[in-house]
Amino acid sequence: MFKISGQTKLAALYAQPARHSFSPLMQTTAFQAAGIDAIYLSFDLTAEKFPHAMEAIRSLDLLGVNISMPYKQKALTLVDEVDQAAQLIGAVNTVVNQKGKLIGYNTDGAGFMKSMAEQAVESPGKELTLLGAGGAAQAILVQAALDGVRKINVFNRPSPNYQKIAALIERLEQVTTCEFQLFELAEQTKLAEKIAGSTLLVNATSVGMTTSDSLVPPEMLRRDLVVADLIYQPQQTALLQAAKANGAQTINGLGMLLHQGAEAFKLWTGQPMPLAVVRPVLEKQIK
Ligand code: NAP
Repeated sequence: MFKISGQTKLAALYAQPARHSFSPLMQTTAFQAAGIDAIYLSFDLTAEKFPHAMEAIRSLDLLGVNISMPYKQKALTLVDEVDQAAQLIGAVNTVVNQKGKLIGYNTDGAGFMKSMAEQAVESPGKELTLLGAGGAAQAILVQAALDGVRKINVFNRPSPNYQKIAALIERLEQVTTCEFQLFELAEQTKLAEKIAGSTLLVNATSVGMTTSDSLVPPEMLRRDLVVADLIYQPQQTALLQAAKANGAQTINGLGMLLHQGAEAFKLWTGQPMPLAVVRPVLEKQIK
């Protein structure tokens, strides 16, 4: 039975909006299953309150926090140290309170790479085609390059995100050996060519979340391609349905959600998240 005491520690989510998040369920289930005397709550914060809430990590001696939209970039300026991936991405989604010193991490990309490895998808040395240039795409781009993916082709609309990912690619070229190419999404011939040369296709756009649209014509999907979609609601986007129909291995975003949380849990507690307990609880909640 779950008991709360004077010793119980707190971890939290800082975001706006924050109340819809699955993280309190995921992390509190994990604390209980691992026998760690801690709970996790979400806090909906205004921009004015956010810096005070960051200071409260120290003053209230929290284990740490997750940061979500719209504060991931601001958090980078409010921590004492930042790990390499978070620095390159320019966004922090996890803060660890190390005896009053705040260390910023970004576990989104690592969570994605862990979810691939869990499905026996070998990405180091391989070619990846990435659709999207927003926050999630940038996190995956950085971690995939740091983890040794050989070549990454990025497709996005000509937008502010396109400019941001172009600048990020320049920074990554300085610190990794990965080869990058950036294209406009409208370049369909290039898209077909790059998907044909890739072992992994990743949809990191929000297309497919609220509509049954897909950015990839079904004829570009083939049996020996792994197709990942970061979306987990719906569980099977139109892209994943078309990929499955063509015989491809398909992976939705639930594994990334679980593993980005597991990475944060490990940073706060030093222990692996008890995935066998947490995964079915999360799956049931998302269904
Ligand atoms: P974001 O920063 O808002 O980026 C959205 C991306 O989608 C941008 O590249 C945007 O292109 C593109 N996009 C949106 N509508 C489009 C359209 N009609 N046609 C072409 N491209 C379009 O969002 P994000 O945080 O990166 O999230 C992206 C997706 O990943 C969302 O579905 C989110 O739920 C999912 N996600 C999942 C996890 C997980 O744990 N599984 C974690 C994070 C995110 P422009 O730059 O041209 O606007």
